[in-house]
Amino acid sequence: MSGIQSVGVIGCGQMGSGIAQAAAVAGFDVTARDVHDDQLALGRKTIERSLAKFVEKEKLSAAERDSALGRIRYTTRLEDLAPAELVIEAVTEDLEVKSRLWTALDTACPPATLFASNTSSLSITAMAAVTGRPERFLGLHFFNPVPMMPLVEVVRGIATSMETLEAGISFVRRLGKEPILAKDSAGFIVNLLLIPYLLDAVRAVERGVASVADVDTGMKLGCGHPMGPLTLLDFVGLDTACKVGEILFEEFREARYAPPPLLKRMVLAGWYGKKSGKGFYDWSVTPPVPVELGL
Ligand code: NAD
Repeated sequence: MSGIQSVGVIGCGQMGSGIAQAAAVAGFDVTARDVHDDQLALGRKTIERSLAKFVEKEKLSAAERDSALGRIRYTTRLEDLAPAELVIEAVTEDLEVKSRLWTALDTACPPATLFASNTSSLSITAMAAVTGRPERFLGLHFFNPVPMMPLVEVVRGIATSMETLEAGISFVRRLGKEPILAKDSAGFIVNLLLIPYLLDAVRAVERGVASVADVDTGMKLGCGHPMGPLTLLDFVGLDTACKVGEILFEEFREARYAPPPLLKRMVLAGWYGKKSGKGFYDWSVTPPVPVELGL
């Protein structure tokens, strides 16, 4: 993959926009695809805002920002991904949605194109199996916010070839990020450990152990974490965290992975966290304030 110049990114939400930005800054030509024009516009705005902050902090020059912006093309057409040598998928965490997409992409892209999923918890092997190129399919699991977070889990599915794995590692290094290797087991390394902790924080609030603010302050000041678990959940997206918990529960059948009722109700109410403006905190005000959860 060292010869790779062109990268396709599918899904221009929180993660997809970040991956597109990181790849463009690293010098790749990027085609970012979403199903909706308004989502693409939102993704573009997120990228522009994030790059502006990098310039403000003098981590990037204005010229570097402009050339990165110039390397990203936005589209709603799947066919526009055909020239990409690597396609990274970052759409909604749902196996059916992702599998449908991979089947269509397998037809739209030449057989040599490498496919990577940014899934947090779904099986790389299951997605690879719906394509005709399981040996050229791997997991590249980025962390949120992608432009800031240096880690990428490189995931080997049962059929992923060594060559593909090495190509994934070299791509991650070209982004200036640190690859770690994980096998295709639900949650890989980080979410396997992180998700039960986040869900326990929700259970603590649900049981009335403490307020949202005090749970977060406890972990920040008591454990030196940069942010509390409920703030982190708002950043991850409550819908995404809920889905990841369900997938881990389905895989391991252990209660600690099961999303608690409070989290499910919040998702049903459309409270997805920062991206929807409301989760454990109300993000429409600065600084955000804890939301009344009706407990
Ligand atoms: P998001 O809801 O912000 O974005 C998902 C995007 O996918 C939306 O813009 C949606 O319009 C688009 N989409 C849905 N179906 C599509 C299709 N068929 N074609 C093109 N676009 C489509 O979600 P997100 O937080 O960016 O998560 C995306 C993926 O990244 C998920 O698999 C998630 O598990 C994974 N992930 C999330 C995080 C996190 O912290 N949020 C971290 C690592 C990995």
